[in-house]
Amino acid sequence: MKFLEDEIQKLKAAGLYRTLKQLPPGVLNFCSNDYLGLTEEPRLIAAGLAAARRFGAGSGSARLIAGNFPIQDELEVALARFKGTEAALLFNSGYHANIGVIPALAGDGDLIFSDELNHASLIDGCRLSKAEKVVYRHNDLNHLEDLLRRRGEASLAPTKKIIVTEAVFSMEGDLCPLKDLLALAEKQGAIVYLDEAHAVGVFGEQGEGLIKNPPPHLVCMGTFGKAFGSYGAFVAGSKTLKEFLINRARSFIFTTALPPMVVGTSLAALKIIETEPERREKLWENIKLFHISPYTPSYSKRGKGGDSPIFSIPIGDAKKTMEISQKLLEQGIYLQGIRPPTVPEGTSRLRLTVTAMHTKEQIQKLTEALRTIRP
Ligand SMILES: *Cc1c(COP(=O)(O)O)cnc(C)c1O
Repeated sequence: MKFLEDEIQKLKAAGLYRTLKQLPPGVLNFCSNDYLGLTEEPRLIAAGLAAARRFGAGSGSARLIAGNFPIQDELEVALARFKGTEAALLFNSGYHANIGVIPALAGDGDLIFSDELNHASLIDGCRLSKAEKVVYRHNDLNHLEDLLRRRGEASLAPTKKIIVTEAVFSMEGDLCPLKDLLALAEKQGAIVYLDEAHAVGVFGEQGEGLIKNPPPHLVCMGTFGKAFGSYGAFVAGSKTLKEFLINRARSFIFTTALPPMVVGTSLAALKIIETEPERREKLWENIKLFHISPYTPSYSKRGKGGDSPIFSIPIGDAKKTMEISQKLLEQGIYLQGIRPPTVPEGTSRLRLTVTAMHTKEQIQKLTEALRTIRP
């Protein structure tokens, strides 16, 4: 299998080779999605252990076979309340949700409109669907409206139109213009599939994300792997949507249910997110602190930032990005360089995330270090 080595050499030459790394001890981590510091929260760990003792270490089968336990129902009921929907359905991860729900909602003869900067899991969901895909410019509702109109008119049979977007873009840190997007979708008779992976836990009075009580033409998806400090995902919407997905979403049907301990952990996280706004307040304090800091070098201000915990520092060249990331590591700061195919060619960047656990001094250390490595 010589092609394996050939491909690896090509990646190395292009500066796109990736390896698994361990974070050296004592290094400041500025690329975690653990926005509220919940991965280390003792109550989450205790709840996970308790769920394992009660229901077992693994779930033993898919939920439709024998892997359905009261704890999953409990979490789904709590999630529906959290999002203000009739129902919610668990998925094993955000990736599972996106590759299962999109092809279930949109099939042959339908149209999918997808933001050009959507996450790989959304792109894969669109690829798995038999619907025709139309990509619109990032957050450009004029472009989307134009495409919705033209493609809608061009198709002969009455087709479903699904708009797929992230709520908080995972690599840019900017927000989708949700209110206007929903109004446009309603006018054009389209459904919106909203990926709130980086929004739940971070936005909303009780951490519910960009929207509570979604209108009927909005399907909300959220994950537990980021601010929830756990693992897994959910889709929130009507009872009928849930019933439909249980019967149609292949990544729900044909996979072993999440281990009970993971479900217990997510349930404990949800309770904390709903009832302890202090963590969210601290997170937003830190976001502002980094965004307005006089130490923040001007080149990072060119990057988008301040709308979410995600800041994007544009570098451009993939190799240069990795060199800067390495230099920062030597100063005790871990900031992962992001390269294609995660982001478009020529837009390699440092992706920086601020969490509620960072101290003022740590954020100052970061901004100082960024100043010294100005490209
Ligand atoms: C992380 C992420 C996912 C995948 O979620 P997992 O639970 O990690 O599989 C999906 N969409 C977006 C926007 C993400 O950032």
